[in-house]
Amino acid sequence: MVIDGFGRPLSTLRLSVTDRCNLRCSYCMPEATYQWLEKPHLLSFEELARVVRILRAYGLDRVRITGGEPLLRQDLPKLVAMLAAVGVSDLSMTSNAVLLARSASDLLLAGLKRLTVSLDTLKPDVFVKLAQRDELAAVRLSLDLVAGLGFHELKLDTVLVRGINHDEAVDLVRFAGDLGAEIRFIEYMDVGGATGWRPDLVVSQAELLQILAGAFGEAVALPGRGAAPAQRFRLGNGQTIGIVASVTQPFCADCDRLRMTADGQLLACLYAKTGLDVRTSLRRGDSDDQIGHQIGDFWRSRVDQGALQRAGMLERSGYVSLEELRTNPRLEMHTRGG
Ligand code: SF4
Repeated sequence: MVIDGFGRPLSTLRLSVTDRCNLRCSYCMPEATYQWLEKPHLLSFEELARVVRILRAYGLDRVRITGGEPLLRQDLPKLVAMLAAVGVSDLSMTSNAVLLARSASDLLLAGLKRLTVSLDTLKPDVFVKLAQRDELAAVRLSLDLVAGLGFHELKLDTVLVRGINHDEAVDLVRFAGDLGAEIRFIEYMDVGGATGWRPDLVVSQAELLQILAGAFGEAVALPGRGAAPAQRFRLGNGQTIGIVASVTQPFCADCDRLRMTADGQLLACLYAKTGLDVRTSLRRGDSDDQIGHQIGDFWRSRVDQGALQRAGMLERSGYVSLEELRTNPRLEMHTRGG
């Protein structure tokens, strides 16, 4: 096990396998054009699995496959099988589910245990407004399919943006309940890529709990959160939901998450501007031990608490300017695994 500068262990990896996405959500990829990572720089499945294997020796126990949209990476079930063979106790994936129906069974068979689907609205016109693509029908089809497939857990992730979908919280909770999924509301964050972020667009945990109390009765916070980003609540109707209050109640003190971009840059925080270049180490022939020591030193020197520092700012707007994003695509949220 390796511990960072604030006593936080390295336990979780958000593994981005592509920076591409087939949606253009307003809170993540709202721009018309993007600077993509260079294709030859993307790590192969063998390189990705090798990094995970090396990290196991440093305490890594949970891997979440992310993107961009991970299903845009060809043959993803093959990578899932390779990661499952490494033996982490929790292997999960976050997807927008546009392409999920055609590979869900293969992912399950390959060893994927938990699945999180991003779903921000139940209204086709709002979906188009939010994501700039007309794909709600494909997402609903995938959800109907995966709900009956037998994943250990199915979750929905929802970002509420005031003025667009903030009036759908109650309907989305009911939808999740009918589906047998747990819904998690994520506060709209001012991360790199969220170029339209403004404080007044954020629906806070406090406001959301008030809205839900009006429909379901008072919510009760559940104990045992650990290092999880979501605080879970039991609603008055018995249903359980989660809220990731990154903006109004940051949880950096317990953050055990390392991130890796699809081109092999390790990041100690969603807000980190620099990281550790593992791709170069992999491709110049460093041994597992050498790479492990580099990662161990990187984690030990970690003092990142990005969301906490942002919360302390008096004036707050988008984190990174469009000009900065154009010159360094690794600052984009869709590049660093959301
Ligand atoms: S802002 Fe950084 S340190 Fe804080 S919870 Fe997010 S990733 Fe972890």
